[in-house]
Amino acid sequence: MGCCDVKGLMPIDLALTKMQAELTNVCQSITLPLSQALGAVLAQDILSPLNVPPFNNSAMDGYALSHADLNICSCEQPIVLKEVGCALAGSPYIGDIPRGCCVRIMTGAVLPTGVDTVVMQEQVSVSEEQLTFTRSPKFGDNVRLVGEDVMFEQRVLKQGHRLTPRDIPLLASLGLETLQVFRKLKVAVLSSGDELKSLGEPLNTGELYDSNRYSMIALLSRLNVEVIDLGIIKDDKSALKEAFIKADQQADVVISSGGVSVGEADFIKAVLAELGTISFWKLAIKPGKPFAFGHLPNSVFFGLPGNPVSALVTLYQLAVPAMEKLSGMAVKSAMRFTAIMQDDIRKKAGRTDFQRGLYFVDKAEQIVVQSTGKQGSGIFSSMCQSNCFIVLEQDRGNVMAGERVTIEPYTHLLD
Ligand code: AMP
Ligand code: MG
Repeated sequence: MGCCDVKGLMPIDLALTKMQAELTNVCQSITLPLSQALGAVLAQDILSPLNVPPFNNSAMDGYALSHADLNICSCEQPIVLKEVGCALAGSPYIGDIPRGCCVRIMTGAVLPTGVDTVVMQEQVSVSEEQLTFTRSPKFGDNVRLVGEDVMFEQRVLKQGHRLTPRDIPLLASLGLETLQVFRKLKVAVLSSGDELKSLGEPLNTGELYDSNRYSMIALLSRLNVEVIDLGIIKDDKSALKEAFIKADQQADVVISSGGVSVGEADFIKAVLAELGTISFWKLAIKPGKPFAFGHLPNSVFFGLPGNPVSALVTLYQLAVPAMEKLSGMAVKSAMRFTAIMQDDIRKKAGRTDFQRGLYFVDKAEQIVVQSTGKQGSGIFSSMCQSNCFIVLEQDRGNVMAGERVTIEPYTHLLD
């Protein structure tokens, strides 16, 4: 417990730990062609079926020779060798290479038997099949050895790893046409609120456009899940109940925004309690205090607050790691580091703040961070002006310019 725990509000670390403990992978393994596997989560360890490179080969266009041959030449004299053939990528030289001879070789060509060193062509002068080297190479220069990148049976990636654009070419180099991955998590999203309008509809007094569903769908598309969009649901208990039942039948995860607080028209918790169970509600974070986590008969439920910054912050900080676990992914902690705060910022002890900041390297080569200004949970433009969260610990109060703070740069899900 921290010194500033507030009764009834759960610290975020405890909420994250509880969710990880309650959830397991719900996605079965499927086979996918490598070409469709970007962003998928591996359901298998990948052991290399071959050596990469599969054969010793030249890293340069030049001449392949036996280093031992250089000893027959005197140190003061230039080294002179005779060219006896040529090796191209995909077209190996097959034949003997007598002592005192070398082979013209191109980048990627198999290193012929009997030679061990390549001299780049820029360091060779050629006349009448006689090659003169001005500089003596070291043994093994410019040779790429079999398996020096990946060894046969080496584990290159682990189950639970989400495939990035860097992994796909590596797996292609191993000749893997198909992979075992976990199927996509199915996530149903809905916005709740009588005041919400869909884009394209005119706004009457007191109404506003539903932006949270766009937040959810945009972030979820980066998370590589299958999104089921259930639209806007009125602040009406039976309409919400009907929507929850429909969502629960189709999806592994149901996410709502709005209506999860303690207002007259906030029915989300009541519906969740009637149809399933509430695991926790109300967190010691800012923004995003009224965040609900629970279970419906077939799915896991996240109730995001309606304020747009709160909705996105809780989706990112809380629901994403939980959905990663449900997807079979090995959940990693966020990358955080220390920066020097450039402004005074106000904070009350009692909740962990996720303020929006802009970090950069200053002239003194220090990592510094600026506040984006107003931090209200409805100031969504602060998300767009920022590139990181300034994470202010639960027990911390006001921060003065010059103090060190923890920052968390946005990942690809927000950037
Ligand atoms: P609630 O959590 O339902 O009490 O809503 C809190 C605030 O967020 C209110 O000002 C709502 O109008 C606003 N809000 C709720 N849902 C959305 C939404 N989907 N898009 C934009 N603003 C919303
Ligand atoms: Mg509402």
